[in-house]
Amino acid sequence: MKTVFSGIQPSGELHLGNYLGAVRNWVRLQDEYRCIFCVVDYHALTQDYDPKEMAKRVCDMVADLLALGIDPDRSLLFLQSMVPEHTELCWVFNNVTGHGDLERMTQFKDKSATQPENVNVGLFEYPVLQAADILLYKAQLVPVGQDQVQHIELARRIARSFNHRWGKVFPECEPMLTNLPKLLGLDGKAKMSKSLGNHIPLSAFAAEKPLWKLLRGAVTDPQRVNREDKGDPDVCNVFTMHKALSTEEDLAWVREGCTTAGIGCVDCKQRLSGRMLEHFRAYVERRAAIVADPSIVQKVLEAGAAKARALAQRTMTEVHAKLGLWRSP
Ligand code: SF4
Repeated sequence: MKTVFSGIQPSGELHLGNYLGAVRNWVRLQDEYRCIFCVVDYHALTQDYDPKEMAKRVCDMVADLLALGIDPDRSLLFLQSMVPEHTELCWVFNNVTGHGDLERMTQFKDKSATQPENVNVGLFEYPVLQAADILLYKAQLVPVGQDQVQHIELARRIARSFNHRWGKVFPECEPMLTNLPKLLGLDGKAKMSKSLGNHIPLSAFAAEKPLWKLLRGAVTDPQRVNREDKGDPDVCNVFTMHKALSTEEDLAWVREGCTTAGIGCVDCKQRLSGRMLEHFRAYVERRAAIVADPSIVQKVLEAGAAKARALAQRTMTEVHAKLGLWRSP
């Protein structure tokens, strides 16, 4: 069975974009692969954050992942900073990573532009730590969007360079490209994101009113100004959400009603709201139970770190031997 590795930054409660763009796929992957899911809190240090919030962000995210169906009995779920071998392997990998390779990383260039006041070495090194995250567990597959492919290709080059210089330890990992919907935010302009404030937090699915408050303002087909205007569902972000969560019958109803002006956007959004509440009902119940007992998250993170460390230490023993470092005989 192949090993799949995925990392997610501890941004706190998840939103619909995180779910449709990653976590729903992770839940399915558990049926076919040995999955390793890591909350990458060391990666989060590359950006400004409030240290008083960090522990809560981790716990909220883990509660969400468990409630959505990440199963710690089948998959490994743990916190990166509880396994120090990640940063140790990162240091080793620094010695087979070209400075020019890191300078070419598109995400580094983009992030440097958006946070010019804090272009730190961690940001520059981010893909090397990411390579260590993946290769520490000898993962062969990494589910990513197109924007992360460059990082996975670099991880593959790092594995190849290590193996060439010191001897074979690591497999050459590959991106696992998934055809997931590209969900825009409620503003209909940019990708759904908590930092842009255009998101639907999963907590909104707990009740009809908060969800409707968000959906009511969601941008639709800009050409459809009045109810009698005919619309094009294929340019409407609300339809993208329908495609992800509604039935075939709903989709046919929306397509027909939108293109003939037989339904209004309010009707369309109300149908979507109902489907969303239905889809997330089990999640809402499971999350409430998890949050009511903080020891659940604590136990998952402690057990996950113990299992991850055992695997990580096995890899590092091989690495130390290849590097020729002195160890007690
Ligand atoms: Fe979008 Fe639905 Fe309105 Fe058509 S009817 S523009 S798909 S919200």
